[in-house]
Amino acid sequence: MNIKRCPECGSEAIIENKRNISIKEPFADEVNIEIKQNVCASCGSQGDFFDQNETLIEETIKNLKQKSIKNILNDFTDNKMSMSSIERALEMPQRTLTKWKNSTNYPSSAGIALMRFIKLFPWLLEVAENKYNYNEAQKIHINTAIEKLLLKRYSDTEILSERHIAHITKAEKEIKDYEDLKSINQDTNSMEILKELYRSTVDKDKVMPIEPVAVA
Ligand SMILES: [Zn+2]
Repeated sequence: MNIKRCPECGSEAIIENKRNISIKEPFADEVNIEIKQNVCASCGSQGDFFDQNETLIEETIKNLKQKSIKNILNDFTDNKMSMSSIERALEMPQRTLTKWKNSTNYPSSAGIALMRFIKLFPWLLEVAENKYNYNEAQKIHINTAIEKLLLKRYSDTEILSERHIAHITKAEKEIKDYEDLKSINQDTNSMEILKELYRSTVDKDKVMPIEPVAVA
């Protein structure tokens, strides 16, 4: 067996300490692992002198990433998003997601990142379904944001009544009609609509904040 020596001074007087560290991955649990830390009694230098922790840390991160993917994919299933339709939208080979979910295959870093983005912004799938068309993408993005703003207006204080839902649906339709009417590539106009809506939704005293937005 090789004699373990300090990489700095060559001394054999090495002390091994144990330390707990926590590793975290988005959409997965936090995990605590015990790592080894060396201290040289002669020169005082510290660290993982013999790369004893590298494998453990790499394995832990890999397992957490796998867990992260499983959690995301289970969440898609719970939200009635079918694996095959996601694969179609993203032009992935069939059963890719099932293989990731069952740990038959391991996704690349790009694959993991993509699933995390879809988890945060599911409307990106709709963008893909529309072949990444710029105008369509803008519409989808803005409509999603408007919907979020309108729902937030009520969810803070009360359960949505049928009347509120009707108003929201009506407002969405108005926005959509408006968007259809004008050329969508005028982003400034879309932003104005959004700002106008935001101004009216933050005014909690108004019973129904939604007014048709004047066409500039
Ligand atoms: Zn030393």
